Amino acid sequence: MKRTEIVAALQSEKTGQDILVKGWVKAFRSNRFIQLSDGSTIHTIQAVVDFEKFDEALLKRVTTGAALAITGKLVESQGAGQKVEIAVEKLEILGDADPEEVSKTVMQPKKHSLEFLREQAHLRFRTNLFGAVFRIRHAVAYAIHKYFNDRGYYYIHTPIITGSDAEGAGEMFRVSVLDPKNPPLTEEGKINYAEDFFGKETNLTVSGQLEAELAALALSKVYTFGPTFRAENSNTARHLAEFWMIEPEVAFNDIYDNMDLAEDFLRYICKYVLEHNADDLKFLNDREVQEDQTKPQAERNEMSLIDRLNFVISNDFQRLTYTEAIEVLKNSTPYKKKKFKYPVEWGTDLQSEHERYLVEKEFKKPVIITGYPASFKAFYMRQNDDGKTVAAMDILFPGIGEIIGGSQREERYDILLEKCKAFHIPESEIWWYLETRKFGTVPHAGFGLGFERMVMFVTGMTNIRDVIPFPRTPKKAEF
Ligand code: ATP
Ligand code: MN
Repeated sequence: MKRTEIVAALQSEKTGQDILVKGWVKAFRSNRFIQLSDGSTIHTIQAVVDFEKFDEALLKRVTTGAALAITGKLVESQGAGQKVEIAVEKLEILGDADPEEVSKTVMQPKKHSLEFLREQAHLRFRTNLFGAVFRIRHAVAYAIHKYFNDRGYYYIHTPIITGSDAEGAGEMFRVSVLDPKNPPLTEEGKINYAEDFFGKETNLTVSGQLEAELAALALSKVYTFGPTFRAENSNTARHLAEFWMIEPEVAFNDIYDNMDLAEDFLRYICKYVLEHNADDLKFLNDREVQEDQTKPQAERNEMSLIDRLNFVISNDFQRLTYTEAIEVLKNSTPYKKKKFKYPVEWGTDLQSEHERYLVEKEFKKPVIITGYPASFKAFYMRQNDDGKTVAAMDILFPGIGEIIGGSQREERYDILLEKCKAFHIPESEIWWYLETRKFGTVPHAGFGLGFERMVMFVTGMTNIRDVIPFPRTPKKAEF
C-alpha cells in the first residue's frame, strides 16, 4: 500500500478505506491512543489500538519519538478534536526510541526553554514549535521566488566566494587553503596570497549586490537569494554570522520605485503566509498570547501575530527622510528626558534605540527612512542634489528593527569614481563595476532583505537563532 501523508489523511473524506501512514509518535495514552506526526502538518493523526489484539511487547515499543508504520481503517473519530482517526490493523516499529534517552531531550513533551532547544538543534525539528517555524520558513522562501518569477524577474546566482572587498558591508571571513602554521611569505614578510588557491585574497561574500547590478544592466529585473556571511562580533538577537539575503536590482527604477517595490513585496510575503500557513500561524499566535500572559503588561505585544501581519498588509508604511527623523527624535519624550543612550545629531547614524522609538512609539507601523548622510552609507549610493545626502532607504519593522537596506545606485561615472577614491577603493579592484557606468549607464535601484529577519516577523520569534535550522554566531558552529 502507498503511504498517505498525515495532512492528506486528516482531510480525507474516504472513511471506511484502509490507509498506511508513517511518522513519529508524539504521545501514546492509555495504551490505546497513538498521536502520530510526519511533519506534513502541525496536526497529529490519532491511531487507536485495541490492545487486546496486539502483542504487549510490541506496544511497549510505542513510545514518544519512535517511528511507526500504521495500517488501518480511516474512520470517523469518536473523540473531540479530530474528524477522522485510524483503527489500527497493523503496527510496525520502524525505529525505536528509548524513553530513558528521550527524557533527556527536547522530545520530552513538556515546555523547554528556547536556549535548551538550541542546544539540541538536531532534535528541535521534532517539536511543534520548530515544525511550524520551518514550514513557514519554507513558505516564505517559496513566496519570494514566486513573487519575482510572476513579475518577470530573473534569479541570478552571485558568487559566494568573492575576490572583491569593496562590498563594504562589514567584516569578512577569509577563504584560504594556505597552511596557517607555515604560510608562504612575501619579501616584506607578509602572507603571500599570490600562492593561495585563487592567487589573491578571497573571502565569503557579504552581499551579492554589485554582481546583481551587472546583471540588472542587461536583464533589467533580477534578484539574488543566497547565503551571506559577516564576521562581525554582533551577539544580538538580530544578527547571524551566516544568513540569507534577497536582493532585487532593477534598471530604470529610482528610489521611489524602489520603495514601492519593497512595500509591495513585504506585503505579498505576509499575505502569502496568512493564506498558506493558517494552522502553523494559529499555533504561533496562540503560543505568543500564552507567553505574553506570563509577562508584565509593558512587555506584552500590543497586537497579536496574525493582527500584525494583517496590519502590514492593510497600512501604508510611514515614509520620511533622515533629516525629518532627527527632528522627530529631538522632539520626543525620551530625548527630552535624556533616556537615549546615543546622541541624536544630524550626521550621526541612527541607533537601534532611535529606530525602535520611531517604529514602535511614534508611528506604530513600518517606517521607511530615506536621504541619509553620505558619510555613513555605502559608496555606491546615489548622491542627492544637496551634495550631503544619498538616495538610501532603510525599512524598519516593529520588533525587528532594520529589515531592508537599499538605495538608488550612483549611475554617473565621474561621481562614482570620486566616491571610490573617497572610500579608498582602488580602481584595480572595482574596474568591472565602474565599467558598467561607461556603457549605457541608467538609473537603477535595489535593496537587500534579510531573510531571517523576515521569518522572525512572520513567525513572531524574537531571536534570529530560532528561525534558521543551524545558527552560526560568534563561538558557535555546532551541528
Ligand atoms: P544592521 O544595522 O541591522 O546590522 P546592516 O545595515 O548591516 O544591518 P545591510 O548591510 O543593509 O544591513 O543588509 C541588508 C539586510 O540584511 C538588513 O536590512 C538585514 O535585514 C539583514 N542583515 C544584515 N546583517 C545581518 C546579520 N548579521 N544577520 C541577519 N540579517 C542581517
Ligand atoms: Mn550590520
